[in-house]
Formats: sequence, structure tokens, C-alpha cells
Amino acid sequence: MQKLSLLAGNVFSGVPLDRVDNLRTDAAWIESRINDAASRFVAVWNQQSIVFGGSAPRAALGDRIALDGLIDGNTPLALLGIAPERGGIAYFAVDVSHLPQEALTERYAGGALMDLRQSVQLVPAQEAAILAYARGLMYWHQKNGFCSTCGHPTESRRAGHERACTNPDCDMTHFPRTDSAVIVLVHDGEECLLCRQSHWPTGMHSTLAGFLEPGESLEECVAREIFEESGVCITDVRYHSSQPWPFPASIMVGFMAKAASREINADEKELEYARWYNRDWLRNVEDSDEFRMPGAYSIAHRLISDWIEGRF
Ligand SMILES: [Zn+2]
Repeated sequence: MQKLSLLAGNVFSGVPLDRVDNLRTDAAWIESRINDAASRFVAVWNQQSIVFGGSAPRAALGDRIALDGLIDGNTPLALLGIAPERGGIAYFAVDVSHLPQEALTERYAGGALMDLRQSVQLVPAQEAAILAYARGLMYWHQKNGFCSTCGHPTESRRAGHERACTNPDCDMTHFPRTDSAVIVLVHDGEECLLCRQSHWPTGMHSTLAGFLEPGESLEECVAREIFEESGVCITDVRYHSSQPWPFPASIMVGFMAKAASREINADEKELEYARWYNRDWLRNVEDSDEFRMPGAYSIAHRLISDWIEGRF
């Protein structure tokens, strides 16, 4: 049993499900859970999920009846896990991207299809974590219908946690992939380094980030990315926390690092600019079109907040 209280951290983590890897190959058990009226189904439509609005918005985690007539045995489906705190009922993700949008909004009356970046700001955190898990897994299925080794079609196995090549001469097994990215709060005493990219929402500033490359440790990646993007050298790299980031298939690994140089030479292909920001100024600044923090659900927001308040 997972000790969820110990693992709870950033938004999108803390999925309140036991992933029951040991039951994924039990075809009879899976079939009985699919047909159990108590089981819950998370419909994913082109990476969006349904949210019911109102004064207390909730994610649509409906039963099988909600999808009757819309899905069949060929609809991509994966077991997410069972909910220990809800009598062990099973949760499934189901990809309904093949349906017209209206078919879903008619069936889930009062609900609306929503991207995770929007729904995370509305629904309870544990539901947002389930939506993130479902979105990430369904995206992987969507993008891996053909074997990357031989080009033949693949098919889902292990309750949606593997895909196997259907070419008997190949027989390659494919597993869900997560791209590692580092995200870093660089500080120098009372100032920290933030940047802006031109395609971000108006005024939004954030920490620097970049993808891990083959043959590179996370610490090396931190130093390389910060230098490439800002020209600043860093030292004292310390791990902070991580965040599942299914946009579309990443994990953000968060670090704090101390600046070893101050001169900024921003990579203009990546950044609009990078600048040093004073701790007290950041503590007191109000969001505006000139400056706003990244979304409160993001690890970037937490890195900046923890640094401002000296929590790390
Ligand atoms: Zn193959």
C-alpha cells in the first residue's frame, strides 16, 4: 500500500489510487472491473477531460453507464488503479477522441471539455491528479500505435500499461515514456533569476527549464541549461521536488542552484529576456500585464514561493 501522505507534494502528484501492477495481467479480474457498476471511467477526448461546473466544480469520473453506446471492446482503455479509500473500486482511463465532441457534451449534461491547465484550477487536487494520469497514459497510446522498431501495428497489453508489436518476427514491447526536464530557481543572495518567453501569457515570468539529454545527469543538465539560456554559471545544485507534467509527457524535476556569476547573456532564440529579481520586490508585487507569476499549480510557482519565503 502506498503511503500517500508521505508522497503528497506538487499538484498532479498524489494520485489517490493503488496502481495494482500485480493485477494488470489478470484478464478475468480486469473484465469484471470493467463490467462492475461501481467502477469509474475517466473519458479523455484529445487530451481534454470533462468537468462539471457550478460553485464546486468536479471532474467527470462517471460509471460505465455514462459511456454506454459510446465505447466498445475496441476503444482504447487502461486501468489506472483501485481506490483503497473508496472500497477498492477500479478507475479506468478511456480514450474517446474518435467521438464527435457533441456526443460527449450531450452525454455529460452540464459538463464541458476542458484542458488540464484549466481544469486543475477548478477541481479538487486529487481529481486533477487522476486527470493528469489519464491524460498522460492516453496520449502515449495515441502516439504509439505503430512499432518504432519495425513499423507494424502495436496492441495494448497489461491493462493498458504496455504495447506489444504484432509482428511475430519483432515482438518488441513498448512501455509508457516520460520525458525528463529540469526546472531551476537560480538565486544569488537576495535576488533570483527569472525569464520570459514571448509565447507565454502576457506578463508571465518563470524559472528556467530545459530537457535532459542522453548521457547527462540531472545536475549536469541544470548547469548546461542555465548557462545556455542565460549565460549564468551556477553551483550548489540542490534537489527540491518533482511534478508530473503531462503537457504532453514530461516530469519536471525541480532544483535550487546558487549563481556563480551574474552577467546575463540570454539566448534570444529561447527567451525574450532573463533578469534578476529582488526577493522583497517579488514578495510584494501584484500580478499585472508587466509581471505575473506562473500558474499556482506549477512547480515553478512553488520554487519561487519557497525561495521568497526562505522555506528551502
Ligand atoms: Zn515491431
